[in-house]
Amino acid sequence: MISMGDYQIQCTACGRLYPDTGSNECPDRHAALQRTVYSAQRLPCADLTGMMRFYDWLPVHNRPVVTAGPVTYKSEVFARELGLSHLYVTFNGFWPEKAAAIKTCSFKELEAVPTLARAAEKKSGILVVASAGNTGRAFAQVAAGMNTPVVVVVPKKSLPRIWTTVPADTVLLITVEGDYSDAISMSNYIADLPHLTAEGGAKNCARRDGMGTVMLDGATTIGRIPDYYVQAVGSGTGAIAAWEASQRLVRDGRFGHHLPRMVLSQNHPFIPMANAWNAGRREIDPMTDMADATQAISEVYADVLTNRNPPYGITGGLFDCLTETGGEIAAVRNDEARRAQT
Ligand SMILES: [Zn+2]
Repeated sequence: MISMGDYQIQCTACGRLYPDTGSNECPDRHAALQRTVYSAQRLPCADLTGMMRFYDWLPVHNRPVVTAGPVTYKSEVFARELGLSHLYVTFNGFWPEKAAAIKTCSFKELEAVPTLARAAEKKSGILVVASAGNTGRAFAQVAAGMNTPVVVVVPKKSLPRIWTTVPADTVLLITVEGDYSDAISMSNYIADLPHLTAEGGAKNCARRDGMGTVMLDGATTIGRIPDYYVQAVGSGTGAIAAWEASQRLVRDGRFGHHLPRMVLSQNHPFIPMANAWNAGRREIDPMTDMADATQAISEVYADVLTNRNPPYGITGGLFDCLTETGGEIAAVRNDEARRAQT
C-alpha cells in the first residue's frame, strides 16, 4: 500500500499550521524553526530499505531508493568499558556485517536524502550547500545517486574530504579560502543567483527529520525512548532533530512518555554553545563565548564541530531543546578526545 505521507508545517513561534511550499520560513516571518506535523500519529514502519522505512515521518511524497539508514545495536564491550548495562549505539556509517550502508560514512546522508527529495518535489531550485566536509560529501553522493543537481561549497582545506562512490556529474563543487564560515558566506551569495536556492541548514525541516530517523531507529530497536541521548555537536541540529523525533514518539504513545535527556559536547577551545548554556544564556555573546574564534577553530581536534552561527537561541532551537529535556553541554579538550578515541 502506498501511503501519501501527509504532513503540514508548523511555526514554533506562532504555532501556525500551513501547507509545505518548500520554504523554510514562517509565512508571518517569525525568526523560528519550522517543524513538520505528520498526520500519522503512530509511527508506521514501511517495508523499505534504510531510512525510507520511516518515510511517513519524512516530508517527502516520493520514495527515493536508498540503502542509507541508521542501525542500532546493544553495545556489550564498550558498555562494559564504561560500566553501563543498557548502552545502545546507533551506528551511522558503512558496516556490511551490521547491514549499515551509509556509503560516505557520514550521518549527513540521512539529511541529504529527504532534503534533495523535498527540493525536487517542491521545485525549489538547485540547492546550494555549504560544508566543512561531511555534509558536502553526503549531498554529493546522494545527489549523484538520485541524478539531481547540487552546488557544494567547501573550504579549500576540506577538499580531500569530498569524494563519492559513484560518478558525480550532477555536482558542482566550489572551494573557498578560509574556514566553514567563509564557505557559508560564499554559499549565501551563490544561492541568491537565479535558479539556485540555499538548502537552509538547520532551518530545513527535511534535514532535521532525516537526522531524526536516528532516534526513530533507536526507539523502535530498543522498544522505548532512551533515557539519555549523547552526541558531539557543532550546530546542535542532530540534537534538535532527536528531540523533535522524541516528541513525536511520545505522542505515538508506544515508546514511553518521557523525553531523553540531551548530553552534548563541544570541542574546547571553540565552545560557543557550551559557554552560553553553562552561563544560563539563550544568546551566544561573540565577545565572551567565542573570542578569537579563528584561532580557537584552528586548534580544535574535531573541526567539523566548528559552526559560528548555530541554531542555538532561535525559537525551537538548541536552547529550547536543552531546556525542555533537562540537557547539558560539556566542553571536551583535545587530549580528552584523543584518549577517548584510543
Ligand atoms: Zn510564525
